[in-house]
Amino acid sequence: MTCGDLAQFSHRKIASESLVLLGEVDEYEPLCRKCYTKAVEE
Ligand SMILES: [Zn+2]
Repeated sequence: MTCGDLAQFSHRKIASESLVLLGEVDEYEPLCRKCYTKAVEE
């Protein structure tokens, strides 16, 4: 699910602070700077 650019950021898809996250891959998605900024704004 990337646009083809180099993914420099790991965007956390699950917005929960109560869960203990152990670096589960499913909860993060690699995004480039542009996509990361867009994802955060949404
Ligand atoms: Zn991108």
